[in-house]
Amino acid sequence: MPRAFITGITGQDGQHLAEFLHGKGYEVFGMVKGQNNPRMSQVVEEFPFVQPVPGDLADLPSLVKALEMAQPDEVYNLGAISFVALSFNQAELTANITGLGVLRMLEAIRMVGGHTNNPIRFYQASSSEMFGKVRETPQTELTPFHPRSPYGCAKVFGHDICVNYRESYDLFACSGILFNHEGPRRGLEFVTRKVTNAVARIKLGLQSEVVLGTLDTKRDWGYAGDYVEAMWLMLQQDRPDDYVIATGETHTIADLLDRAFAAVGIDDWHPYVRQDPKFMRPAEVDLLIGDATKARTQLGWTPKVDFDTLVTMMVEHDLQLEATKHGMPVPARS
Ligand code: NAP
Repeated sequence: MPRAFITGITGQDGQHLAEFLHGKGYEVFGMVKGQNNPRMSQVVEEFPFVQPVPGDLADLPSLVKALEMAQPDEVYNLGAISFVALSFNQAELTANITGLGVLRMLEAIRMVGGHTNNPIRFYQASSSEMFGKVRETPQTELTPFHPRSPYGCAKVFGHDICVNYRESYDLFACSGILFNHEGPRRGLEFVTRKVTNAVARIKLGLQSEVVLGTLDTKRDWGYAGDYVEAMWLMLQQDRPDDYVIATGETHTIADLLDRAFAAVGIDDWHPYVRQDPKFMRPAEVDLLIGDATKARTQLGWTPKVDFDTLVTMMVEHDLQLEATKHGMPVPARS
């Protein structure tokens, strides 16, 4: 039975990946930060097959102990301070966890190695935010980086150190440059889920408006369930490499509002949306749109869930969630 070790198990991707790998017959170990992490009990309840292992990306000895305990064939480093807005307020923490955390994980792998002459394979969760003020459109694996946030800067370090350790120490280390991916497990602080949850609450009469920043910001949004398959595929290749993972389509926040409100039968969302500069970034990224040709041709990967299906799925999930929470009937589909 192959063994996988996932940092960021309590996050959106960690949960999708754990489910995916379990389906592939893996024994799954999830690294848990903190002495009583409240999100872990939910993970254990939903995914009882996940074996929790204590550890923190800020603490190298804890990573070494975690790897010794899990003895993994594959390590997926998904743990990070991942919210761009927070990274502007807590830049040093972001650099430490999202950036230096990758270096610590790589060092831990070098120290522990791999069991049975089978070196550990490593996946690093890189991000389209590294492209920031984009130099070309669409972005590929060869597009130069120009990050526009402390998060983006930390991810560039993580990406570069991953490439450097691959070249210097012959590690099987891959970096997935993933464009935004969403789903019902997305944190409520991220704009897609903030919108779909607010739309559900507005439909149920629990909330009157949603307050957002810029509405013309464009993103390449895919479904997290599709993207974790790409992570796994990268580690099954003969040689380690880096890949852009994206849909190649772009949509504005206004498009997101159109689709989300339409899913509950509301045609004009303007009365329910207010803009506040508080939600605008100090430096915004440009048009992010990825060219995943390399992943398509070399990994055989393609996204399956399109934008409309994704947004509708999230709204329907949030309607169910909020209705159940408040003891209300779930409205019929619009
Ligand atoms: P997420 O939901 O925000 O999850 C982040 C995870 O990191 C949580 O499980 C969190 O655990 C963990 N973490 C935070 N600080 C840690 C520390 N000091 N030590 C160990 N773990 C720590 O993020 P996601 O959406 O699943 O994304 C997964 C990864 O992909 C992240 O690295 C993210 O930056 C990257 N990425 C995401 C996207 C996207 O669109 N989702 C796109 C590109 C790249 P706690 O519960 O303990 O806080």
